[in-house]
Amino acid sequence: MVAALLDRLGVDPSLYSQGDHAVHSPIDGSRIGTVRLVGKVEVEQAVGRAAEAFQAWRKVPAPRRGELIRLYGEALRQHKAELGELVSWEAGKITQEGLGEVQEMIDICDFAVGLSRQLYGLTIASERPGHHMRETWHPLGVVGVISAFNFPVAVWSWNTALALVCGNPVVWKPSEKTPLTALACQALFERVAKDFSEAPAHLSQVVIGAREAGEALVDDPRVALVSATGSTRMGREVAPRVAARFARSVLELGGNNAMILTPSADLDLAVRAILFSAVGTAGQRCTTLRRLIAHESVKAEIVERLKAAYSKVRIGHPLQGNLVGPLIDRQSFEGMQRALEQARAEGGVVFGGERQLQDRFPEAWYVSPAIVEMPGQSAVVCHETFAPILYVVGYQDFAEAIALNNAVPQGLSSCVFTTDVREAELFQSAVGSDCGIANVNIGPSGAEIGGAFGGEKETGGGRESGSDAWKAYMRRQTNTVNYSHELPLAQGITFD
Ligand code: NAD
Repeated sequence: MVAALLDRLGVDPSLYSQGDHAVHSPIDGSRIGTVRLVGKVEVEQAVGRAAEAFQAWRKVPAPRRGELIRLYGEALRQHKAELGELVSWEAGKITQEGLGEVQEMIDICDFAVGLSRQLYGLTIASERPGHHMRETWHPLGVVGVISAFNFPVAVWSWNTALALVCGNPVVWKPSEKTPLTALACQALFERVAKDFSEAPAHLSQVVIGAREAGEALVDDPRVALVSATGSTRMGREVAPRVAARFARSVLELGGNNAMILTPSADLDLAVRAILFSAVGTAGQRCTTLRRLIAHESVKAEIVERLKAAYSKVRIGHPLQGNLVGPLIDRQSFEGMQRALEQARAEGGVVFGGERQLQDRFPEAWYVSPAIVEMPGQSAVVCHETFAPILYVVGYQDFAEAIALNNAVPQGLSSCVFTTDVREAELFQSAVGSDCGIANVNIGPSGAEIGGAFGGEKETGGGRESGSDAWKAYMRRQTNTVNYSHELPLAQGITFD
């Protein structure tokens, strides 16, 4: 099945049938490929090839660079079904979420095509007569992309579509848990690029490797920007290394996203939003809802309604019409169980969280999503456990709810459910949520590509995707031109 998909996506079989790193599907634990993990030397060689590609690509006019991305977007449209299904096999996403991830890739390609004609700079009023000032944006250099298992293709495309229209080649190190989808993206890219005469060789490369390969990318002085998506632990290692060589980083790290549920909230809407954002992708989204901060007057009712809704959620094979697929691996399951134990020890009352479908899938890790009523925001609640656990805490007044929302080390996504305009505005104001994303009457997950995506504090501070996130992929230059016959100095200085 997986081999047939890879074949239709144009992946050379030698890339997934040789090597000693086995790739297992989280759906049933079956082996779906073997790949060879590269080390430092091969990463350095890839970066060398990318640096060469940069010399040519930066000279190609940006709208032509956009044309390459337009063609890549077309290839994705043609292969959406296969790539989406491959995402399901390799990352365990349900059909709709696998397809949705590819749709996100298509959307960012469309965005980047438009952007390729809008890499605008500024003209600035000069204080000197006969002078003009402007600000221009130039290609930056090699972009290194490190990605996580849970968005195995979309995160790469968010970076790569922008990096390429901005004039930069890309070297991508995907998660070692999801190398096959990366090989498929690369095969599609190569097919499109080979017919595009202005595209130099090695414009986009993939290096399949583990942490060592990631470190080689991080440390290579020819990599101008490292865009790294993954855990805060990883970011803590990557950030100082990139900073030590004064390169740039875009860090997209862990989240611990909350919903404030107020007394005026539309509870029907809230139940649907909570279900999708807490249970979807089996709780393995960076924007998954992990904390429900409910007003004491609605807390009991919402918990009851959620328990009823959770009990009806279909858990199972993600390609067979279920809503919750598996966790990525055993480690993830064990992490979830440890967190539930800790929650109990900290006074929590646990609903759900048990292993499911063990008989049918002894080598896979399905769980029923958990709801945990906590006496307060204790240590376990402040930690991101990458599994479907929803902690519920109560609040009395809105200021307290905002304080709870902000009282965790992460700062990715957040939301409030309210029909009170004062609460809605306060939540999105300077004294409201401290997160990169703050929504009203929408859950915290499922961002659109048009906005800048990312978060504060331990989430890393990076922004990707829409708005002006492209500026991280270019270097800014301030230009002053003197078209007069004099040499007036700035600040009125005379020097003779
Ligand atoms: P992870 O940190 O284990 O791995 C992510 C990537 O980093 C992998 O490619 C891995 O090989 C690489 N890596 C690990 N250590 C490294 C090092 N020292 N140097 C260089 N590379 C290194 O994360 P994961 O388990 O794959 O993904 C889940 C995590 O990712 C969660 O914390 C989730 O919140 C986060 N995430 C964040 C976003 C976001 O946009 N903020 C998006 C998706 C996932």
